[in-house]
Amino acid sequence: MLVSTQFPSLRYMQLAMNVARQGGLLGELSVGAVLVDHKTAHIVTAYNRTKHEILAHAEILCLQKMKIIYTQKQYSEKYFINCDMYVTLEPCPMCAHAMSLMRVRRIYYGTPSILNVSCKTVLGYNNTATEVYDEINSTECHNITHSMFHLLRP
Ligand SMILES: [Zn+2]
Repeated sequence: MLVSTQFPSLRYMQLAMNVARQGGLLGELSVGAVLVDHKTAHIVTAYNRTKHEILAHAEILCLQKMKIIYTQKQYSEKYFINCDMYVTLEPCPMCAHAMSLMRVRRIYYGTPSILNVSCKTVLGYNNTATEVYDEINSTECHNITHSMFHLLRP
């Protein structure tokens, strides 16, 4: 596992932030994710939908959407080794583990989560090849996350 603050493509993080805002406007926790397959150029997006489905975290939904594309296109690859995940909030242990199992190449996240065991710790336990790049557009992602938290939990 490599942990770095190397600057990634901000374009996808901007997209993740826009998706997070959409979810927030619909009353969901404003967490947005973008999964990019750099080999096939497929891009999927999702925001948290945990209001009605507890496990419907943005990252899990992205993994599911990309899996559907792989199935439809009859790609033989079982894993997401050419995929990078961009997410506005640090992934929770469930999502970090799922991305590790699917062998997502890189995770870029915005603001750190203070609620969970760190994503890096989970990936460290898994001894995964998934790389983590943290605090991308951190302030803006923090503001998106927390402005909606205040609306949902006054
Ligand atoms: Zn999660």
